[in-house]
Amino acid sequence: MTEDRYSRQILLREIGLEGQKKIGDSTTVVVGCGALGTHAASLLVRAGVGRTVVVDPDNIEISNLHRQTLFCETDVGERKAEAAKRRLREINSEVEVEGLVDRIIPENAERILKEANVVVDATDNMDARFVVNDACVKLGIPWVYGGAVGTAGMVFVTTSDGPCLRCIFPKLPPKGELPTCDTVGIVNSLPSIIASMEVTEALKIILGEKPISELMVVEVWSGDIQKIRVRKNPECTTCAKRQYNHNTG
Ligand SMILES: [Zn+2]
Repeated sequence: MTEDRYSRQILLREIGLEGQKKIGDSTTVVVGCGALGTHAASLLVRAGVGRTVVVDPDNIEISNLHRQTLFCETDVGERKAEAAKRRLREINSEVEVEGLVDRIIPENAERILKEANVVVDATDNMDARFVVNDACVKLGIPWVYGGAVGTAGMVFVTTSDGPCLRCIFPKLPPKGELPTCDTVGIVNSLPSIIASMEVTEALKIILGEKPISELMVVEVWSGDIQKIRVRKNPECTTCAKRQYNHNTG
């Protein structure tokens, strides 16, 4: 670890040299490598996280470029996970980066997530988030939910004791019910804010600090930021009953 590279982070009272070592010893998995994932992975790698795994099955499209900041025109058509890995290694060659061309499903989730100190959600669908939620609660790994559509986004941290994402959304919403970037669009300044908040929580977790306990809701167009208190649902199938039945929604 070159201390010069991280000098402005080491200077920070919240991190310091000891904190920087913890960051360097940690592993993060970023699930999804779109708008949130490219921002989050870039910040984690620049912060000096020892090993970062990005997981995404898709190819880069020209319509991704307005918000997916690791990619440029010559990357169009390439796998996101592979292009991201190449760019992240150019950003910081002192840390390990892995690009997994895969989709998180119940059958592979635990294998992919088990080494992580913290998991950063950067997917675009609730199905994958329910899979991540079940696997992380079961494995005792904290994970940071992030969502961004239109002009609004949310961040929420789940620790193994709960509350978890299923305490907020007990049932998987029917397919097509929730708006997506493909149906309503997204302002390109939003993902950087949401991903930055997610990475801040991930770094706090790595440093052994208590993450935020509320659901953070950011409306970037109006400038409104809300913190919503979330209670653990005593009937939650995941964090209360410990039934990891992500297949049934
Ligand atoms: Zn729960």
